[in-house]
Amino acid sequence: MQYQAPANDLRFLLFDVLGADKLHELEQYADATPDLMAAVIDEAGKLAAEVIQPTNQTGDRQGCQYDPETRSVQTPDGFKEAYRKFVEGGWTALDAPLEFGGQGLPHTLKFVVDEMVCSTNLSLGMYPGLTHGAISALYAHGSEELKQTYLEKLISGEWTGTMCLTEPQCGTDLGLIRTRATPNEDGSYSIEGTKIWITGGEHDLVDNIVHLVLAKLPGAPDTTKGISLFVVPKFLPDSGERNPAFCGGLEHKMGIKGSATCVMNFEGAKGWLVGEPNDGMRAMFTMMNEARLMVGMQGLGLAEMAYQESLGFARERLQSRSLTGPRNPDGPADPIIVHPDVRRMLMRQKVLNEGMRALALFTGHQLDLSVAHPDEGVRESADDLVQLLTPVVKAFLTDEGFNNANTGLQVLGGSGFTTDWPLEQLVRDGRIARIYEGTNGIQAMDLVGRKLSLKGGQLVRTLFGVLTGYLKDTPEAPHREELKGAVKALEQATMWLATNAPKDPEQAGAAATPYLRLTALTVIGYLWSRMAGVAAAKLKAGEGNQPLLEGKQVSARFYFEKLLPEVDWLLSDIQSGKDSLMALSDDHWAA
Ligand SMILES: Cc1cc2nc3c(=O)[nH]c(=O)nc-3n(C[C@H](O)[C@H](O)[C@H](O)COP(=O)(O)OP(=O)(O)OC[C@H]3O[C@@H](n4cnc5c(N)ncnc54)[C@H](O)[C@@H]3O)c2cc1C
Repeated sequence: MQYQAPANDLRFLLFDVLGADKLHELEQYADATPDLMAAVIDEAGKLAAEVIQPTNQTGDRQGCQYDPETRSVQTPDGFKEAYRKFVEGGWTALDAPLEFGGQGLPHTLKFVVDEMVCSTNLSLGMYPGLTHGAISALYAHGSEELKQTYLEKLISGEWTGTMCLTEPQCGTDLGLIRTRATPNEDGSYSIEGTKIWITGGEHDLVDNIVHLVLAKLPGAPDTTKGISLFVVPKFLPDSGERNPAFCGGLEHKMGIKGSATCVMNFEGAKGWLVGEPNDGMRAMFTMMNEARLMVGMQGLGLAEMAYQESLGFARERLQSRSLTGPRNPDGPADPIIVHPDVRRMLMRQKVLNEGMRALALFTGHQLDLSVAHPDEGVRESADDLVQLLTPVVKAFLTDEGFNNANTGLQVLGGSGFTTDWPLEQLVRDGRIARIYEGTNGIQAMDLVGRKLSLKGGQLVRTLFGVLTGYLKDTPEAPHREELKGAVKALEQATMWLATNAPKDPEQAGAAATPYLRLTALTVIGYLWSRMAGVAAAKLKAGEGNQPLLEGKQVSARFYFEKLLPEVDWLLSDIQSGKDSLMALSDDHWAA
């Protein structure tokens, strides 16, 4: 089935609900008029359907190939051509800084494009995706010379970038890295070590690859406080000389087979320090926070494609009669979309996907306000929300994106399990997003262990200000009572953490995952109430796309009746504490 970009939903969300149609009133985003934003949505949708999607199945079937003789990697058929069109269309430069050849458009639009690319070929999207993180890290932390050397070519897509953190003995705990950086006389460093699972570490899409590598300087502390960040190009930009940063092989994996996941051997490769010595984690977090939001869009993108496939199938597949009598009396059976249990699966996909899109674009919009709004107070509140919600977007969208792709597969029955249909690939491809860029468990730890206490708890106070402010100012808010209940549950959970976590950090660890889910469901509840409110107002005024608006009202009802009540047992999970998690002793586990 050809992908159809959710353009109507995007316009509804951006222009009618979130107010992103006003972004052009901010000086920095003067070009981002509603017309331009609508054009970006339409053009990106076309590119995704016509150029990117046709490469998706080939990418999965062929995968990347490694040549041990030349230590090179070949991407699947069609990737080079599709990547070239992506670059020629200026898509790599969309929200990148103007001074280095970017278009300087709002980040919200980048979120929109990310979703479409990930719906149609996640593997291909990874190459420019990681590059974008490298651009941000260099822009925020690199010296002027490094910026001049690398940014333009990365932004134009002529070169790609990587993030080299993981090593065989460490993924989550980067304090354990062993890669070393020894100073050279010319101010550069000699990088020695092995990194594993490096996305886009080697490939044939571009002429040069710019690695951002975490390494330790001589005498640096053996913790995350002793890590520095280096830029290590495959070819040295001044001389064109090959730098000894070689791919030692490719990982064989269950999904995203068109994305080259490489072992990278740095054999005395020349690198240059980015930022200050031993301050690499800060620079890396610039890259990772951005990449986390992008990975959230991966989950959503795959779930959207799965929804489109399963909806199409459910309308065509004839099995059994409707419980209330034939709906297709001239056929041998009714389409399975008539069955309540199939509709439960489709509704879950539709309502959660639209809710997750709202959460992501709400966060994207706040990101734009945090950098471009003239009022410092607005900038600060927006930044609070972005920081707090980044791990929530990453973890919830990839958990539920994967679950929704899996639900989509179930709608297809046995067909979903076969390779004749794309669902099994979507499920396989979606699984990794819950793991990389920090596992979802680590996102939850980031939320409760770091974000809740940041600025003396101000981040979460800002969120409560938004939620309670909405309830107070909008007495007619749809599903107000249910939303009020969820906000109260989140308040109780936050208080419980504030009381128990300082006394016992294991209580925070035990509560982390349900707390993140509770936050996501509550904020999405707030957004569903807003969407339903806008839909009601527009229907009353006789404006807009009537089926979409009526669908929003029904979807909101489904969300509040069937999905949001999960908050009650999440609260009870949190409040029951760590005891049953921690009680088994070593000899209990496999007794
Ligand atoms: C396809 C693919 C692409 C990747 N791309 C890149 C890349 O481009 N660059 C890069 O540097 N890395 C990359 N990675 C690595 C990826 O980021 C790591 O796999 C991930 O961060 C988890 O690390 P790990 O696999 O070592 O798991 P571990 O750190 O060994 O964790 C195992 C389990 O323990 C849990 N855990 C660990 N510590 C804690 C803790 N303190 N509290 C609670 N739970 C904990 C984790 O949540 C997880 O469930 C990639 C991996 C894959 C598979």
